[in-house]
Amino acid sequence: MTEYQLLATAASGIEALTGDELKEMGYEVQVENGKAFFKGTEEDIIKTNLWIRTGDRIKIVFGMFEAFSFDELFEKTKALPWEDILPMDANFPVSGKSQKSTLYSVPDCQAIVKKAIVDKISSFYHRRTRLPETGAQYPIEVAILKDIVTITIDTSGSSLFKRGYRSEKGGAPIKENMAASLIKLTTWRPNKPFYDPTCGSGTIPIEAALMGLNIAPGLQRSFVSEDWNIFPENMWTEERHKAKMAADYSVELDILGTDIDGRMIEIAQSNAKKAGVEEYISFRQMQLSDFKTEKEFGIIVANPPYGERLEEQDYIEELYRQMGDTYRSLPTWSKYILTSDLEFERFYGRRATKKRKLYNGRLRVDYFQFWGKRPQRKRNTEK
Ligand code: SAH
Repeated sequence: MTEYQLLATAASGIEALTGDELKEMGYEVQVENGKAFFKGTEEDIIKTNLWIRTGDRIKIVFGMFEAFSFDELFEKTKALPWEDILPMDANFPVSGKSQKSTLYSVPDCQAIVKKAIVDKISSFYHRRTRLPETGAQYPIEVAILKDIVTITIDTSGSSLFKRGYRSEKGGAPIKENMAASLIKLTTWRPNKPFYDPTCGSGTIPIEAALMGLNIAPGLQRSFVSEDWNIFPENMWTEERHKAKMAADYSVELDILGTDIDGRMIEIAQSNAKKAGVEEYISFRQMQLSDFKTEKEFGIIVANPPYGERLEEQDYIEELYRQMGDTYRSLPTWSKYILTSDLEFERFYGRRATKKRKLYNGRLRVDYFQFWGKRPQRKRNTEK
C-alpha cells in the first residue's frame, strides 16, 4: 500500500461539504477554494470515488513545486517518480491551466510536462522508439498558480456528478452532485418528509433516496483508474461489493416529487428506476400551488425555473408568489429554494432565514432558506 496525497475537487462554494463528507469517512481534511485535500491509500481512492456525493473528482496530487522557467518545470516534473504509477503503455493526456504566473503559456507548459514524463518513462523502460500510449488512461493536469506548480493525476475520469442513472434530462436539470449538496445543506433526516415541488427529471428526490438508503452514488458508473495497475487484483471488485452491501433497503422514506409537466414525471420515474430507488419515491404530476399536507416537520427543496428570458418574468413572479402563499400554511416545514432571481424574497413574501451563495453550473444563484418551527422537545414529567 502506498499513501498518496489526494484531492477532492468541488464546485466553488461546495468544497466545505465535500470536506465534511471526507471527515465523516474518517479522513483528516484541509479545505481551500474548490478543493479538499486528504491522504489515503489505493483503497481510499476507490472508496472516495464510490462514496463522495458532493464533489467532482478525486485526484492524486503527484507533485507540487515552484517553477519560474521552462527548464525548471521540465527538470522538476521529470524528477517525480512517474514509473511508480505509469506503465510503459500508459496513455497520458496532459491538460493545463495557469494563473498569475511567470509561466503563462498553457500549451507550452502542457508540452513540457508531457516531454518530461515521456523522457522519464522511456528511460525507465529502456525504450528508444515512441511510447505506444495504447494502454490505460492517466489524465494528468499541470496547474500553475502564482508560480506554484501542482501536477495531478485524475482517478475519476468523467466528473462524479455523472452517476449513470440519468439518461433523460428534460429541460434544465441540476447536476447530481449539486442536488446532493442542496440536500446536505438542509436539516433533512430520512425519518422526515421530503418534497421537491418542481422536480423535473427527479434529480433532487433521487439523490435524497440514495442518501436515505445509504446507497453509494458511484455504484453504477465506471472510473478511469479502474484499469490502472497500482491497485491489487480485485480491489475494485471488492470495494464495489462492500459498498453494495452497505445499502439499507429497509429504511422507510417519505419522498415526494411533483412537476406541472407530465412528461417530466415520466422521465423522473424512469431515472428513479435506473437508480434503483423507484419504490422509495412518489412522483406526481401537479402544479405546486395544489400541495396540501397534514404532515409536519418536512423539508422542501426546490429548483424552480429562474426566468432567464424576459418574456418568462411574469410567469416566474407569479410562481414565486404561489410558493409563498402555498408554504405559508406549513409553519413546521423548512423550505429551501434555489434561484438566480435576486428579488425572490419580495415575490415569495418573506425574508429568508438565511441565504447561501452558490453556483448552478456557471450561473450565480442563491439558496434561500426558510427554517420551520423546531419540534417541541418532550419534557420528562415523570418523577
Ligand atoms: N431539478 C430539476 C429541474 C427543475 S427545472 C432536474 O434536475 O431535472 C424546473 C421545473 O419546474 C420544470 O420541470 C417545470 O416543468 C417545473 N414547473 C414550472 N412551473 C411549475 C408549477 N407551477 N408547478 C410545478 N412545477 C412547475
